[in-house]
Amino acid sequence: MEQITTDKETSINEFKKWKENFDECIKECIKKSSSHDIEINEILKNLALNPATSSINKMTIVSKSKTISAELKMKGDYYFCGGLRKPHESDYFDSAFMEYTKSIANAPPMSHQLSSSYGKRAEILCRLKLYTDSLNDIQQALDNNCPDNQKTKYYLLKAKCLKVLSHSINNDHDINRAYQDAKYWIKNMNNNMRKKYEKLLFEQINDNLIDAGIFKKWNYDKFIPILNNRHVNLPSLSDSVGLKYSRRFGRHIFAKKNIKPGEIIAIERPYAKIYYGDMKLRFCCHCGEQMWSSLPCDSCNIMMFCSNKCRDDANDDYHAIECQVLKFIQKFNLQDEYFIVTRIICKAIVEADCSLDTLKNDLDKIHAEKNPLKRGFVNEIFESNKISSIYSLLGHSVKDNFNSKIHINSILISYLLITKTNVSSSGILNDRNFDNLKDNYMFIWLIKLVQKLILICNTNSLSLVGFGDKPEGLFQGIYTNISLFNHSCCPTVASSTQCDKLILTAIQPIAKGQQVYYNYAQHYRANEKKDRQLELFKYYKFICKCKACEKNWPVELENSKFNKKIYCFFFNYDRIIKKFTNVCNDLSSIVMYCENFKNYDDELPDILKTINDASDVISKLYYYCGKNSSEYLLAVDTFEWFFRSWNTPNLKLS
Ligand SMILES: [Zn+2]
Ligand SMILES: [Zn+2]
Ligand SMILES: [Zn+2]
Repeated sequence: MEQITTDKETSINEFKKWKENFDECIKECIKKSSSHDIEINEILKNLALNPATSSINKMTIVSKSKTISAELKMKGDYYFCGGLRKPHESDYFDSAFMEYTKSIANAPPMSHQLSSSYGKRAEILCRLKLYTDSLNDIQQALDNNCPDNQKTKYYLLKAKCLKVLSHSINNDHDINRAYQDAKYWIKNMNNNMRKKYEKLLFEQINDNLIDAGIFKKWNYDKFIPILNNRHVNLPSLSDSVGLKYSRRFGRHIFAKKNIKPGEIIAIERPYAKIYYGDMKLRFCCHCGEQMWSSLPCDSCNIMMFCSNKCRDDANDDYHAIECQVLKFIQKFNLQDEYFIVTRIICKAIVEADCSLDTLKNDLDKIHAEKNPLKRGFVNEIFESNKISSIYSLLGHSVKDNFNSKIHINSILISYLLITKTNVSSSGILNDRNFDNLKDNYMFIWLIKLVQKLILICNTNSLSLVGFGDKPEGLFQGIYTNISLFNHSCCPTVASSTQCDKLILTAIQPIAKGQQVYYNYAQHYRANEKKDRQLELFKYYKFICKCKACEKNWPVELENSKFNKKIYCFFFNYDRIIKKFTNVCNDLSSIVMYCENFKNYDDELPDILKTINDASDVISKLYYYCGKNSSEYLLAVDTFEWFFRSWNTPNLKLS
């Protein structure tokens, strides 16, 4: 089981119990305190009285466990066998892949266990025709303290993968080398194994391994959206839009010139993102690409990376600090929203060279800036990747209202940052026990900062969902430039994703001077007004006054997904409607291609041309039928559905 060492033998479970009991105490503190500052002081005073608080200081969590890794590998073996027996039930192999990946995440670095988990995943990847990924895993199996009696097995697998790949590349030298190595290490096997592998070796050398094809990965290079003219001050937005401020709308984005449907308005990578649950095993936590031969963090079992480069970059940018905090908050069962807050604060601390004093200085300056059109801008630029931009998203009008959970978790994250990482502050002494910290102004400042970041995340982070048959949540991300758009239930831009990049494209003609709206909750076609308004208020704390809400537009379609019956009704209407029908078919076939791209031999249909055609149809319908006509709105819906759906490939392995 888990190895947990503490001086006072306070177990994690006891701590969890204590945390729950403390909930009541905090509620009392909140009730009797007249201000936020007094509230925090009261809570800290009470926490300091409890011995469990200071025990966190001495707690160490060892995330890697040979036993747990071995159990997960066994689970993987079970699914692998199931898959071999029933090769057409594709879920078996996918489950085996996931269990082996978890096993790798949990194995101690440079252990036999890690080597054998990589070895098993290499086998399944080879089976799934992911030969290059299999080769990566074989190399990891060999490099991580591989027992000599296992090496023949891996070199033989290596030769097999290379041999299949030799149909497209010339690698005879590498294949021969792998066979030589396989032969060389056979001496370390026991008699039975030696006989078995001598036979296998002979068979494989004489087998031509006909070209069985290679697993088809989604190719992101097929369509790379680009911003034609980048905005000088808002680097992730197009120059066709600008930033305005008004009391009613706050900061918002408007069209500086007439915008045609199909025009790309924004392309942005998130400041921070956290993949939900097991999605962490499928996507690189740093660059967001789907991965198969992933690498774990050496210290925690939470984050996985697509490459050494991403692992190093992540460690430099945030993970070296974050890792020490995440290990605890994972054990304490904090929800995903605290993972993303931890990511943001760690990134910000690294940006400030690990000095809380520098960070405080920088953020105080943003706070002092009274002009909302300048707040968060550094050298007149609202960067995607700077904490100043994130911090400026804090609405000044929102009254701070924290429940006991936010209080205890923000104190916990701050305390972990102070005691488990190398952050420095001139105001905090080296003796960092809770009793000393409870009155420390820098510690209290850090707690309040974490609380502000929780508020910012609650109202600005987006939940990105994969589409297809069963939509699944992919990740929670926070974007800076894109956070400047206001919401509408009948938006003028639609979003699509490429890895973690969010792309906004105009789906309606937007006249010069008009505000540009994005939809970050529900569309008027998908949900009744009262449901939309409830959700918007619950998550984003505002009452929507968009045109669909004000005029109470009906939900005409069952959902916003394109409905064939309805467009058939308009068939033969006139030339535009005919073209509309054709465009709808083209859009649908692109989406179908994306959902099933592995089963298509031919190339992706021409996306750019289809988008241009759709843009043309929408502009004409707008002109001929009017902006409130069902024809026009249906076309816009279809366009919106297309952007949501077209670039979300099927994740599962089969
Ligand atoms: Zn990566
Ligand atoms: Zn880690
Ligand atoms: Zn609305």
